[in-house]
Amino acid sequence: LHNTILELKGNIRVFCRVRPLADGQPAVESLDGQPIMQFPSTGDQLGRGIELQVPASGSDKTAKHAFAFDKVFEPASTQEEVFEEVSQLVQSALDGYKVCIFAYGQTGSGKTHTMMGPQYCHEQRGVIPRAVEQLYQATHDLEADGWNFEMKASMLEIYNEECKDLLGKGGATPSAGRQQPIRHDERGVTTVAGVETFDVRVQERLQALMGRAAQKRSTMATASNEHSSRSHMVFMLTIVGHRPSTGQSVHGVLNLIDLAGSERLSKSLATGDRLKETQAINKSLSALGDVISALGAKADHIPYRNSRLTYLLQPCLGGDAKTLMFVNLAPTGDAAPESLCSLRFAAKVNAT
Ligand code: ADP
Ligand code: MG
Repeated sequence: LHNTILELKGNIRVFCRVRPLADGQPAVESLDGQPIMQFPSTGDQLGRGIELQVPASGSDKTAKHAFAFDKVFEPASTQEEVFEEVSQLVQSALDGYKVCIFAYGQTGSGKTHTMMGPQYCHEQRGVIPRAVEQLYQATHDLEADGWNFEMKASMLEIYNEECKDLLGKGGATPSAGRQQPIRHDERGVTTVAGVETFDVRVQERLQALMGRAAQKRSTMATASNEHSSRSHMVFMLTIVGHRPSTGQSVHGVLNLIDLAGSERLSKSLATGDRLKETQAINKSLSALGDVISALGAKADHIPYRNSRLTYLLQPCLGGDAKTLMFVNLAPTGDAAPESLCSLRFAAKVNAT
């Protein structure tokens, strides 16, 4: 039944989440005595609307921009409250759907907090660990009912349009300028050359792998400053289930993606490696927006091949696949111009 409800709402949804101020106050800053962000407290926009004050260009006044999404999480929202709204989609993967959940926003807006959560705080764990727990619990219950499940995970990073394995032991980095082939088979199973897939039917195994991935990523961070905000992290989970007694089977995919920071970097200031990074990020984020818009417009041609990110996720974007995008925002005045860009991107996705 819940899938019927989801279908009625369409297959693309957008949730907006505003993080609290750094010191933990569940508040937002003000500009000219006006709060930077406001959330409707009554009416049909309750829990769905957000208004942003931005300095108007060429004057000392501010301009107000209003948006509405499927859901808006205010700064005081907890990880648990956020996951409550996500768990139906996770269940869909177990019902055989292909699901993508993205976190979009500028660096520092709370994407990693939303998707992963802080590494050493179980209470504050994010969507990825909670989704995995839910799937373990649900498959465990179904196994008591005669089902057998196989769960396979891979985790990779897309940096400068190249995929790097985050779970595998092999530290092989692709040779410069050569992209590893990405293949999709007729069932929508994706394989990336050089990226290992792990059987994660045992929860402890996945936790150990995640620890390794975090370590691998932080090693790269020393090589290139702020590496994690300049790359997309993609966690792919495939769930295959069979029930021998009835011949039933399911095949679902859950992709959880922590996108690169969406902040616009001035091209005139960026040079060398930084310019290359910037161009790669701009290309893939705009390609993602274009693909989602084309899907919404039911266009004949969906431009999946314009970036590695959209090509990698092709089988899970479109068709009867389900997509959720978080647009993460920082509540400060400094961030307001970028927040406006993020909200506009999200509004375009939401319009589909
Ligand atoms: P991003 O991944 O978008 O760059 P982070 O998730 O790293 O941003 O968040 C930036 C900082 O704000 C981190 O210190 C993070 O712990 C904190 N933070 C983000 N969202 C929340 C939240 N909802 N509650 C508490 N702290 C948060
Ligand atoms: Mg991050």
